[in-house]
Amino acid sequence: MPPKTTKKPAKKAKSAPKVTPKTKSKAKPKSSAKAKAMTKPKPTKAKTTTTTPHTDDYEALLKRARDQIPPEVFDQPRFQLPEVDSFIQGSRTIIRNFKDITDTLRRDPKHLIRFLAHELATAGELQGAQAMFNGRFTSRALEDLVAKYTDEFVVCPVCQRPDTEIRREDRLLMLVCSACGGRTPLKG
Ligand SMILES: [Zn+2]
Repeated sequence: MPPKTTKKPAKKAKSAPKVTPKTKSKAKPKSSAKAKAMTKPKPTKAKTTTTTPHTDDYEALLKRARDQIPPEVFDQPRFQLPEVDSFIQGSRTIIRNFKDITDTLRRDPKHLIRFLAHELATAGELQGAQAMFNGRFTSRALEDLVAKYTDEFVVCPVCQRPDTEIRREDRLLMLVCSACGGRTPLKG
């Protein structure tokens, strides 16, 4: 006797997207002379309809608008990277907000410091919430490396989101994305 399986696949509640055609001007009475009132559309694409100032003014406006946008928007359109707050002390460089950075990236501080030390070809160590490196490095250089780290170990290559975590599976490190479910093997 075969097992009685009367389980039917659950009917998917199909929620058809409502298509609501935009009925404009329904208060308007039907006119028999259909669309005659509309005449032919004037080709107005040559010029932007907004009041175009003189070219110079326009350029100045654009520039001003751009200046009001924080530079990070251009540098990292996908993800707001934390700034590196660092200073040089003697022959060493200290990242003051190291913990904040790894918290933002949601990464193990040891992982990031190892990466940075390797990239800088120097030694680094954690000191509480700070990181210390032998050698003198600019905040800018450190920031570039944090950006590189983020590209390699934080941002999902599938969906470009930072909602990921690193998991060790057997001997492989995987970047697992909670946004899209993407799984990307990491080197190292
Ligand atoms: Zn993803």
